[in-house]
Amino acid sequence: MSSTVEKVAEKYGYSPDQIQSQKFGTGHINSTYLLSVDGEDKKFILQSINQNVFKDPLIIAQNVRLVGEYLKKNYPEYLFVGSIPALSGEEMPLVDGVYWRMSRFIPNSVAYDTLSDPKQAFEAAEQFGRLSKLLSRFDPSLLRPSIPGFHDLNLRYDQFKEAHANAEEGLKLKASHQIETALSHSFIVDFFNSYKNSPDFPDRAMHHDTKISNMLFDKTTNEGLCVIDLDTLMAGKFISDLGDMMRTYVCAFSENEADMDKIFIRVEYFEAIINGYLKEMGSILTNTEKDLILFSGKYLIYMQALRFLTDYLNGNVYYPISYPEQNLVRTVNQFKLLSEFFSKEKILQSIVDKCLHS
Ligand code: ADP
Ligand code: MG
Ligand code: MG
Repeated sequence: MSSTVEKVAEKYGYSPDQIQSQKFGTGHINSTYLLSVDGEDKKFILQSINQNVFKDPLIIAQNVRLVGEYLKKNYPEYLFVGSIPALSGEEMPLVDGVYWRMSRFIPNSVAYDTLSDPKQAFEAAEQFGRLSKLLSRFDPSLLRPSIPGFHDLNLRYDQFKEAHANAEEGLKLKASHQIETALSHSFIVDFFNSYKNSPDFPDRAMHHDTKISNMLFDKTTNEGLCVIDLDTLMAGKFISDLGDMMRTYVCAFSENEADMDKIFIRVEYFEAIINGYLKEMGSILTNTEKDLILFSGKYLIYMQALRFLTDYLNGNVYYPISYPEQNLVRTVNQFKLLSEFFSKEKILQSIVDKCLHS
């Protein structure tokens, strides 16, 4: 009996004796395989879509196709890693109850899980910024949400309040300090809401998952090659992409780090993000958006802290954990990062201002 990967390959016209497959990459959401075809100098990436996270994977297929067509028509030289349709024409064939997508493997590329040089932050911010720039005239309302409410801070705040109201007393006690911090920072929600509907703070087509592992670098030159992982390409605010870069690039350690002394902002990485992003988006952002550049980091870090805390209070139903208190530690970690943001606010804003006016 052929394996599921073999069955998927057959949908693309490759028989099991023609192909080799291996697990690939370090993505946490989907299962990724590298597929090599004998006798052809071609390699493909095959991914099964995680349907716990993406309830309707065909939304992803449609969004990626629309954006791919737009970019091909308007910017034919742009390297966009879209899905390859199966022989049947399906963009995501259903095999053994799971949706699969094939894309071309980008040769001589490498993805990183952590950053070791501010240049990587610059390159990634430039690439994510370029995608937004090229899509700045694309109508974002054509895109359907692959995860409804993904970066909706109001929803995340409501979910936190509900989890708090329903949580076991023991959990509430253990998290009391973090609950207080979450509540006392609700001004971030209010601040966002005061801008949310402004025509100068428009919805745009955003990537929504700008962590460094979603960027391919050239193995030889270390330049940013292209953006990958387009599962969450949908309408949103620019703060989503820029803020998640700030959240995940400026600190040397991830949200899983339990030693809070290690959680601080590397100003040179922040500067690299700003320079790379504004190199592309500086001419696109409205004045209102420019005023919200620093806010984007606060927004994303606060939202992520809320999400970890909510999951902790709900009994860890969403984020995988390797020990019982992990979601609480992640919450403490993100609130530490948030407080770093506030305490370095002046210097960070001066970096933004310098870049905007250079
Ligand atoms: P996930 O949604 O699980 O994060 P990704 O789409 O980010 O999955 O893919 C996981 C990893 O596979 C990436 O970090 C990268 O290392 C590798 N990868 C994905 N697509 C390609 C591609 N087209 N070419 C080369 N490597 C890729
Ligand atoms: Mg990824
Ligand atoms: Mg993904």
